[in-house]
Amino acid sequence: MAKQDYYELLGVAKDAQLDDIKKSFRKLAMQYHPDRNPGDKAAENKFKEINEAYGVISDEQKRAAYDRFGHAAFEQGAGGGGGFGFDFGGGVADIFNEMFGEMMGGGRRGRAQSRGADVRFNMEISLEEAFAGKKAKITVPSSIACEPCKGSGSKGGAAPKTCATCRGGGKVRSQQGFFTIERTCPTCHGAGKVITDACPSCRGSGKTRKDKQLEVTVPPGVEEGTRIRLAGEGEPGPAGTSPGDLYIFLAVQPHRLFQRDGANLFMRMPIAMTTAALGGEVDVPTVDGKPFTVDIPKGCQNGHRFRIKNKGMTVLRSTARGDLFLEAAVEVPVNLTDKQKKLLREFEQDGERSTYSPETQSFFDRIKEFVESLKV
Ligand SMILES: [Zn+2]
Ligand SMILES: [Zn+2]
Repeated sequence: MAKQDYYELLGVAKDAQLDDIKKSFRKLAMQYHPDRNPGDKAAENKFKEINEAYGVISDEQKRAAYDRFGHAAFEQGAGGGGGFGFDFGGGVADIFNEMFGEMMGGGRRGRAQSRGADVRFNMEISLEEAFAGKKAKITVPSSIACEPCKGSGSKGGAAPKTCATCRGGGKVRSQQGFFTIERTCPTCHGAGKVITDACPSCRGSGKTRKDKQLEVTVPPGVEEGTRIRLAGEGEPGPAGTSPGDLYIFLAVQPHRLFQRDGANLFMRMPIAMTTAALGGEVDVPTVDGKPFTVDIPKGCQNGHRFRIKNKGMTVLRSTARGDLFLEAAVEVPVNLTDKQKKLLREFEQDGERSTYSPETQSFFDRIKEFVESLKV
């Protein structure tokens, strides 16, 4: 099936401004978010597609490449720009956080007293860990319901009394001239109930602070901005309600060798001039830790790209793996000894340049032609 146009996916015109693209993306992302469509595979796919489209269109460089080459710009690491340029920008993650805040905020407003607050925990992992997945023990500062008062805040767990100031309404009214002003009750701070005899352990808050240890399973294939939900591990709610959820936001550290674009990895591979000329084997590291031997064909040119299938990243919730793209960076020898210089001069004089450096020769021939054409 042909891939859908990114602009169509995002429901924006080709010349749309970033603000409008962002707006449209947010609307669609909220609509198709997996949390809002549990078990709906079509919505999940759509969500992935719009994320991918936004990742490209919101990035000036990637958008320009997409406008010129279409989807081909991001396949096989081919396409325009030269060099890799596949940084995994923070755009998607940023907007995700914003959206997340909105969704959480919206939820909290709707059912303010019915459950505890959600908690965010940031976790940084290496690219190797994102590849293989990991089990991590984390310590989360948290508050739990106070033991002695069972979370009520009243000494001995006695039920709080109805606030006398507001008679339980949580708001007080006062008359100022023609206006009636309604404000939050200063006695109970809007709760409608007051604790007359505060629990000494928690000073009436009903909570005590306690770090908790949790074990988190990070599945293989996670990306920057992926979040993991631990249901019920957030803040406790008011007595008798369920606690909020804990969300772990993942950040993936940049890697010294690999650049990542989704499931694919990219690496610059320096090759000695002699290996490039004569051919040979080069061992390259891979993200799974097992070195891979690349056959370098003789006459391998600078910039040549190798695609090593299934040596990229794992794909989240899948057995598939992306590819590893290598770009040959042929190194011209430096710090030559006298003998090496002599050998290279001999090399230069042995045979014809048009044979061992055909491109250079034809380039010089063209320059010569050009200069001669100017003389006429
Ligand atoms: Zn009150
Ligand atoms: Zn207490």
